[in-house]
Amino acid sequence: MSTIKKDLALFNELAEVLINDEQHNPVAKRIESSQLFDSIDLSLSEEAMIDEDFKSVLSEILLATPKTATNLFFNQLFGGRQSKAVLGDLLAVLLNNSMYTYKVAGPQVGIEQEIIKKSCQLIGYGPKSNGTFPTGGSMSNYMALVMGRDAKDQDCRSKGMTKPLIIYTSVESHYSNAKNASFAGIGRDNIRFIDADDEGKMIPEQLEAQIVEDILNGGIPTYVNATAGTTVLGAFDPIDKIADITEKYNLWLHVDGAYCGSVLFSKKYKHHLKGVERSNSFSYNAHKMLGTPLTCSIILVRDKQHLHNSFNNDASYLYQTDGDDFNLGKTSFQCGRRNDALKFWTLWKSVGSKGLEQIIDQQFDLANVALDYIRNNPDYTLYSFDNSIGVCFNYKNVDPKALCTALYEQKETVVGFGSFKKDTFVRFVTINATNSPKDILNFFKVLEAFVEKNPNLLKVTELSL
Ligand SMILES: *Cc1c(COP(=O)(O)O)cnc(C)c1O
Repeated sequence: MSTIKKDLALFNELAEVLINDEQHNPVAKRIESSQLFDSIDLSLSEEAMIDEDFKSVLSEILLATPKTATNLFFNQLFGGRQSKAVLGDLLAVLLNNSMYTYKVAGPQVGIEQEIIKKSCQLIGYGPKSNGTFPTGGSMSNYMALVMGRDAKDQDCRSKGMTKPLIIYTSVESHYSNAKNASFAGIGRDNIRFIDADDEGKMIPEQLEAQIVEDILNGGIPTYVNATAGTTVLGAFDPIDKIADITEKYNLWLHVDGAYCGSVLFSKKYKHHLKGVERSNSFSYNAHKMLGTPLTCSIILVRDKQHLHNSFNNDASYLYQTDGDDFNLGKTSFQCGRRNDALKFWTLWKSVGSKGLEQIIDQQFDLANVALDYIRNNPDYTLYSFDNSIGVCFNYKNVDPKALCTALYEQKETVVGFGSFKKDTFVRFVTINATNSPKDILNFFKVLEAFVEKNPNLLKVTELSL
């Protein structure tokens, strides 16, 4: 048997081990980080490792790795396993193309372009639109910022920044906005963080007031990042109202939909993106709500000329055949680029847009199961709002940080905490569409039984002291 066939057989064997184990042990045994290198043999040495040992160390590593596809993983903004997407990703690894040219990617170029074209249509961008697949949502935001910067300061590409550019985002937006401002040469001091209202949405009146003040002070307002699904609360900034302002003052409007932009597939929830067709760019992560393997991020640009302006560069050693429309490297950040499109395409192709819609709606349905449970149970305090798949709560007077850490350390369930304004709470994310309502209710049972067994978690409140 050829080596690759043998290794694929081994892959199947290991996959079987992992998937069976997930049934019985939905949370992996935790290895203390300080013990890691003593617990598993991760060492690299001069000598080759023989087949049986190799297999057993791989199997050991698989079983010890945090399990993100099971019904007790709720920690971050991804989870579960859409198997048709996994299939596509495995094929992409086997094919190993780089997406920069038609010469080496062939039909994969068309696959990427089809996803981009369909997505642009769904959000109402016109025929001049296009996009690309960056390495993630942070990079999508970065590419948007660079385009916004170059649109405002056209000499920037050749001379470096020549104007005092200022950018805007809400206090609740993703931290990549701050990092990107420094990468883009704008500087962290030149971001204005706009307040959010009680539900976590950017307050447009404050945005406008800040823009007016910056103009008076000689600054050049350049770019607004609006968020479709803030990282903690899952709030949607009011895109339409923000677009009124960006159009009035001629700023680039980017909509960061990394978390919840995928509602574009749902008739029921799409209205949260109202006005998105007025934005200059929009991004969403198929590796979050749509359950494709990490990473799969898409940025769409209303006028593709901007992608070209900011990211093209001639390279005679690379672009040797076919036109720019087929040589995707002309509009990407990096040179060699992984095929992140195929896994999303295999999912979309197999379930149809209707299937994607069901995935999205299912997550909100699961969130509603959690919300109902919390609202009907006086032991819980709710901090999040309707229409969000991030359900934020506290249980009795248990400290959420201690609770989440203990649940993880005792391998009960994996869930994280978050903060909004002055409150800190458990953030339970119902993003795994392969879960059922039963799994959601089971999470609460696990949590309650755990607190029952560990009464020390019930902290003594200051009042009762
Ligand atoms: C997750 C997230 C990002 C970052 O995406 P990555 O793919 O993790 O880089 C950006 N914005 C928001 C709102 C997010 O939730």
